[in-house]
Amino acid sequence: MFTNKEEFKQIFQNNVVSKLGKPLNEVSSEDVYTILSRMMREFAGREWASTNQELRQDAEKQVYYLSLEFLIGRLLGNNLLNMGMLEMVKSGLDDLGISLEEIEEQEADAGLGNGGLGRLAACFLDSLASLGYAGHGCGIRYRYGLFEQKIVDGNQVELPDDWLQKGFEWEVRRADRKIEVRFGGYVETREADGELYFSLRDYEAVWAIPYDVPVIGYRGNQPDYHVNTLRLWSAEPVPEMANRNLGGAGNYYSYLNYNRSVESISEFLYPDDSHYEGRLLRLKQQYFLCSAGLQSILRTYDKLNLSYDQLPDKIAIHINDTHPTLVIPELMRILVDEKGYGWDKAWNIVCRTVSYTNHTILSEALEKWPAQMIRDLIPRVYMVIDEINKRFCKVLMEKYPDDPERVAHMAIIFDDQVKMAHLAIAGSYSINGVAALHTDILKEREMRNFYELYPERFNNKTNGITHRRWLMHANPELNDLITESIGSRWKTHPKELVSILKYSEDAAFQSKIAAIKKHNKQRLAQYIEQKYGTPVNTDSIFDVQIKRLHAYKRQLLNILHVMYLYNQIKSMPSLNMVPRTFIFGAKAAPGYYLAKNTIKLINRVASVVNNDPDVKDKLNVFFLENYSVSLAEKIIPAADISEQISTASKEASGTGNMKLMMNGALTIGTMDGANVEMYEMLGDDNMFIFGLNADEVMDYYQHGGYSARDVYNSDPRIKEVVDQLITPGPFASNTYEFASLYQSLIDGNDEYFMLKDFDSYAESHVQIEAAYRNQQVWLKKSIHNIAHSGKFSSDRTIQQYASEIWKIHPVQG
Ligand SMILES: *Cc1c(COP(=O)(O)O)cnc(C)c1O
Repeated sequence: MFTNKEEFKQIFQNNVVSKLGKPLNEVSSEDVYTILSRMMREFAGREWASTNQELRQDAEKQVYYLSLEFLIGRLLGNNLLNMGMLEMVKSGLDDLGISLEEIEEQEADAGLGNGGLGRLAACFLDSLASLGYAGHGCGIRYRYGLFEQKIVDGNQVELPDDWLQKGFEWEVRRADRKIEVRFGGYVETREADGELYFSLRDYEAVWAIPYDVPVIGYRGNQPDYHVNTLRLWSAEPVPEMANRNLGGAGNYYSYLNYNRSVESISEFLYPDDSHYEGRLLRLKQQYFLCSAGLQSILRTYDKLNLSYDQLPDKIAIHINDTHPTLVIPELMRILVDEKGYGWDKAWNIVCRTVSYTNHTILSEALEKWPAQMIRDLIPRVYMVIDEINKRFCKVLMEKYPDDPERVAHMAIIFDDQVKMAHLAIAGSYSINGVAALHTDILKEREMRNFYELYPERFNNKTNGITHRRWLMHANPELNDLITESIGSRWKTHPKELVSILKYSEDAAFQSKIAAIKKHNKQRLAQYIEQKYGTPVNTDSIFDVQIKRLHAYKRQLLNILHVMYLYNQIKSMPSLNMVPRTFIFGAKAAPGYYLAKNTIKLINRVASVVNNDPDVKDKLNVFFLENYSVSLAEKIIPAADISEQISTASKEASGTGNMKLMMNGALTIGTMDGANVEMYEMLGDDNMFIFGLNADEVMDYYQHGGYSARDVYNSDPRIKEVVDQLITPGPFASNTYEFASLYQSLIDGNDEYFMLKDFDSYAESHVQIEAAYRNQQVWLKKSIHNIAHSGKFSSDRTIQQYASEIWKIHPVQG
């Protein structure tokens, strides 16, 4: 362990020599990355062991956060920050002629998630550890993360994301703690003394091997830090399976098939972002995580030598969306089949242990599985689900004897489909939405029947982001300015960011804010110029939309508006406008044609506007490929405008909106998700709100009355850009390449109200331009955004989960 810079340099150099056998001036950045992160992981190992020991001794209640996705990104920089060693290491490396920033670039992103849901899980882990809670992540160690996106001729091409190729220095393989998970087979039922006993026969066993990653809490001024565990499971074949039915040559091949099918369980993260999914293997992954995770949780619990009656006092299991819902029947199965509990008592324990977060109301994203698929894959678990359903329906029929339709609607199994959200609600004590508006929609509309049945179970927990990664680490200059101005308490009490409000009109402070934004824009411009060869005007407004590509997120509205600006400039070349740079980053699900067609359109518009001499000094468009956590960390500190323009009611919360706000970007957005709560604090002065609200949108869905064609016919600006999608001209080279987008807007009647909202969106952009022309006013707005972003720290979110859902307390160090 080192306590000062000179010691660090000495130990680091010793490590380089002893581990690489080379002098320092011959090692590559990649070598330095490997040595440095291994050193840091080993140092953290001591605190990790001591946290684990405390947890065992204190028998404090523990939370396990089950999620099929953890979008954690790079770890080196954030771990150094949280360990309180960032400055020391950075300056020590500087002395040796090494740039830490360049070393950090060597780390592959752990992209074990699709988007917001997986990134939320990662922010939660950071806050749990930083607040000293015993809260662990439980997920899958996918061999390949979310695909790597390349843009070729304007089109998205997916390449495998081989993130483990160079090894993952932060993980520790714990083969000694492997767990057996069982698939297939049949259930043998036996009766003895009037009781039924169930055993699974002829199953296929799979090993789940845990790889543990330390989750290092922020140290602040504390002498030591708290280290939780992110346990990621990898599937491996069980060697004894080779002995099963051995005898003929064919069996060797069937063993190879078995190996292959086992490995496939933890091979890929499904790049489906809410729908368009590959089915059976995904269900296999879900059960694999739930069964391995739960068995390992219970093994730890067993060391306490307590009865399972006390399980809910010592353990909270949280499921991130419905993907890990099988933990409910799996816990029932274990209590009933293996621990000798009767049904009612077991069910009571389960319902006091599990809690559930709902992330979406998009009906296509509500998980349903064919009953037959579950029955074949995990027959005993299916029997348990079936029994849960029967008892649940019985309760419903007693409560609503005259309303069989309602009972059918609420059933867990209906029409040979298992509805995971219904199972999750029936088997958990808390169901939360992720922003106030989203929770209201759940209670009043989507899950109204369930809310009426269990009103006390429903609650809101507005999402948050870790200000350590998204401000302190991603924007070090802003971090320093804030700390110089108001001290460092905000780092552990982020709501105190509000104290910078007193400088919102201070000219010196404003000019420092402006200079920081400028530096960040220059850094991003340099990245873009280097990678894409196009110069970027850092005096332009950087207008950013970065998120998964989805029709409801309306990247199409954004690019149609850019096309309109282009048409405006072409018809009025002398137009006096503040130059704009529109920046996009977005991955589309590989099978989602409309989304891919939108990417192609954005790239086409980019190549047109960036190369048109009449336009390129006023308007630029960049599509930055392979949007990921590390790319987000480059873009967000440089943004002036944050595009949060989803169709109202569709975006459950959003977290990108919070990251951008925290870095001083102003939001142009709809009254959707957490934008609503941002608006409550910022008001019209500090935010650009436009478009239909959620009630208006839902009203149209319910009662009709919207005609996209009418809007198209009555607004010449809209008609021009929509026609340009199918008319050979500046953007389309033929009538069909963007026809799917045209059709979705006109023939499909514009399901997401892009044409309806176009006018007020364009008007908000006019206001943005006017506001930007007065830099003092603009900077004041920017400072207001930063100041009010403390509410959106995931520290606040996690404190609410801890006290209102999980009932846990920080572990005393
Ligand atoms: C924050 C984040 C998201 C979520 O963004 P939204 O705008 O809330 O959809 C998705 N992907 C990455 C890499 C992120 O960092």
